[in-house]
Amino acid sequence: MSAPMEVTLQDPPNDEISLQNGVELQFTNPSPLISEEKVLVSVEVCLKPSSTARIEDVRSAVERMLEKRSLSYNDGPIPVPLDDAFLAENVQRISICDTDEWANNHNVLLFWQVKPVVQVFQLSEEGPCEDVSADGQPSSFNEWVLPAKEFDGMWESLIYESGLKQRLLRYAASALLFTEKGVDPFLVSWNRIVLLHGPPGTGKTSLCKALAQKLSIRFNSRYPQCLLVEVNAHSLFSKWFSESGKLVAKLFQKIQEMVEEENNLVFVLIDEVESLAAARKAALSGAEPSDSIRVVNALLTQIDKLKSSPNVMILTTSNITAAIDIAFVDRADIKAYVGPPTLQARYEILRSCLQELIRTQILLSPQDCRNFILPNYASLKERLKAPDVDEASIPIQLCKQLLETAEACEGMSGRSLRKLPFLAHASLANPFDSDPTKFLCTMIETAKRERSEL
Ligand code: ADP
Repeated sequence: MSAPMEVTLQDPPNDEISLQNGVELQFTNPSPLISEEKVLVSVEVCLKPSSTARIEDVRSAVERMLEKRSLSYNDGPIPVPLDDAFLAENVQRISICDTDEWANNHNVLLFWQVKPVVQVFQLSEEGPCEDVSADGQPSSFNEWVLPAKEFDGMWESLIYESGLKQRLLRYAASALLFTEKGVDPFLVSWNRIVLLHGPPGTGKTSLCKALAQKLSIRFNSRYPQCLLVEVNAHSLFSKWFSESGKLVAKLFQKIQEMVEEENNLVFVLIDEVESLAAARKAALSGAEPSDSIRVVNALLTQIDKLKSSPNVMILTTSNITAAIDIAFVDRADIKAYVGPPTLQARYEILRSCLQELIRTQILLSPQDCRNFILPNYASLKERLKAPDVDEASIPIQLCKQLLETAEACEGMSGRSLRKLPFLAHASLANPFDSDPTKFLCTMIETAKRERSEL
């Protein structure tokens, strides 16, 4: 699939349209002013685990369904039509994905501005296949068949600003497309190496896994089988370097077998890649046994070899932002700094946490309704600016308090933010107190405590 086209969108012809996905809109005739070019929008269709339907049949059925309906396109689920027995039997959920960029700029995309690109997939429930060594050595890699149940929803749960996720997805998708189309690397050069770097806990590892999952869905017609191999660089360089040599050989033999099948798309994730550079430095300085340098070099040579295979993407993360002394990441085409969340991202992360506690009834919904939705950052700002804002309304009060909490969390990582609601709950005087206002007060105190311990 190609990345969405850059087109200028017209204003929707009717301002009063409901922005809910799945809502039938009032008009059916596209405005004559509309540009011929359409925005490609991903519509992901997740099959039920029990479904044995052919992907092409489901895709056609969903395309027909979308043609019949006049939808607004913003991220979120579309109800599976119950009057379509085939879809109702086979489809678990349908969702519109990755329109954020457009939605931010234009609020919403309407059906006549959009060309839906339907991607049908079934989650693998196999779980990680761990490489267990008989001699008590820590395992050196984990392997998943993608898209995996474990990574479902991970992409959506990671919140960054300024289109970082979209940029990554487009880069990676272009790199795979160039490969698929056989672009001559001597004429146009690119590689399939991604390096995400930044402070710990900012979601780099999760983002790599979520990116692999996304790409496995997007490219499933070209690559019916996708695999993710997570290399545990630390355990490779455990105490016994002589053993490590064997582990490296075994690991790459396995990866090579996967890569030889040209219908496989293989993602190799190397976390904390700087540990390879550190290991090499230690080996060179003589602090490690003499054969250690051979092991590190063997690993780097293997990665270099792997790089040239068209159906491999190497995903790496690093907690240090300074240049890393490893040639293969040095040349990474896709390098992205992943920093601590900004105020808006912190608000959105905490909003999703609060929403989950309301859904599970640990907290009481302000309007006594489990489906209560707290406004997002952009619409909260809009509402607060409006002259007729009812400052006393409970949802507005709650959102303002949430914003205060997000402000109190400055400098905290995404990982710490996702733990905060749990820590706050554990320090409530009465754990069955489900008042969200009191809960947010405790969360601010907990955040202050956590920050003082940073
Ligand atoms: P890193 O590899 O940078 O150390 P991880 O991928 O291990 O970070 O992040 C741990 C967890 O922290 C993630 O699974 C996620 O729940 C949470 N997290 C981190 N950053 C974010 C973010 N920007 N948005 C949402 N959740 C985040």
